[in-house]
Amino acid sequence: MTDAPKSVTILGVTGSVGTSTLDLIERNPEGFRVEALTANSDVEGLAKAAIRTRAQLAVIGDESRFAALQQALSGSGVEAAAGAGAIAEAAARSVDWTMAAIVGCAGLSPVMEAVRRGGTVALANKEALVSAGSLMIEAVAAHDATLLPVDSEHNAIFQCLDMAALDKVRRIILTASGGPFRTASREAMASVTPEQAVKHPNWSMGAKISIDSATMMNKGLELIEAHHLFPISEQRIEIIVHPQSVVHSMVEYVDGSVLAQLGTPDMRTPIAHSLAWPQRMDTPCESLDFAKISRLDFEQPDLDRFPALRVAREVVIADGAKPAIFNAANEIAVAAFLERRIGFLDIVTVVEAVLHGYDPSVPASLDDVFAIDREARLRAQEWIKAKAA
Ligand code: NAD
Ligand code: MG
Repeated sequence: MTDAPKSVTILGVTGSVGTSTLDLIERNPEGFRVEALTANSDVEGLAKAAIRTRAQLAVIGDESRFAALQQALSGSGVEAAAGAGAIAEAAARSVDWTMAAIVGCAGLSPVMEAVRRGGTVALANKEALVSAGSLMIEAVAAHDATLLPVDSEHNAIFQCLDMAALDKVRRIILTASGGPFRTASREAMASVTPEQAVKHPNWSMGAKISIDSATMMNKGLELIEAHHLFPISEQRIEIIVHPQSVVHSMVEYVDGSVLAQLGTPDMRTPIAHSLAWPQRMDTPCESLDFAKISRLDFEQPDLDRFPALRVAREVVIADGAKPAIFNAANEIAVAAFLERRIGFLDIVTVVEAVLHGYDPSVPASLDDVFAIDREARLRAQEWIKAKAA
């Protein structure tokens, strides 16, 4: 890249998406200048990344780790800070590009800070958009910010969708790998362990999204995400299972043309697309070997074995507070499954129970969203406690 270096902030730098983002930036030292890096508790990973990239600021979410961060950064010239408020402040600093790669609704405040600053925000953190919904999209427009989708499916759609011809789009087709239990029976799924569930057949990702892929909650969250990112009605967004994860998603136009974006399952491709946008940049991602792949398979998702897809469809239609409840209950249920407090099939059961028992009014502000998120978490915890008793 020959332009002036882009200033960047990475929220959630120690995670799977954060690490891939850092990898691309470190391969192009002339192209980027790092402003701030944040992590939740991994002081060592954060400090090393900050020192290597000569970041201005490193922020750790867990305040009890502040002294450890200060020590790890002493003499480096990198400023240290701690706490959720400090992460939000870091996100508010002026930069050309922000990667939002925190997992869960914990990333919502920092994403909104970056949006309010009117910057370019590369969004991996789908839970933030699902929870805030149209409030985030309205803030993007009000502050003249740019939201670039990093989720591989949404990045694929972004690359294929002609925003000037939306009335000529027949449908959007979101592909889903089907996860590790694509062919498993409900009986078999009832007894799977966290170790089995985090083993995704194609992608290497953080634990939470890996479990979401196994339940197909991930595709449910992505349906809601697509509904907000692209002004296309929910009925025209379809989900198809594609076990090879080569076709990342598709857009069909009224003339019958279907445009797709393909690539190896490596998040560095969609991240690079957002990082260089509206240009392109090199990545070390392998080329697709079509002869070796030899075939691409597609199958209808099974809503009986994967009820998360049915629930997500109901949630996107109901809208209002439901997406925030859906996300919050799922975050608690996934954490409980990872801690072996509930079974795999209980995840969707908890989410549905919380959705049915809690019907607050439509959130009018971000504070409303946080209140709904908190209450849904409490209700999910109560359900889990009652089950264990
Ligand atoms: P991860 O668990 O590997 O990393 C999460 C990051 O967020 C870490 O840096 C962690 O320190 C930070 N974090 C966690 N909780 C936090 C908190 N309470 N406060 C502040 N920081 C916190 O997750 P990931 O797989 O990199 O996923 C990140 C986001 O990107 C998720 O929303 C996920 O759905 C989305 N995404 C991931 C992939 C993938 O391939 N991993 C693909 C598409 C979308
Ligand atoms: Mg995805």
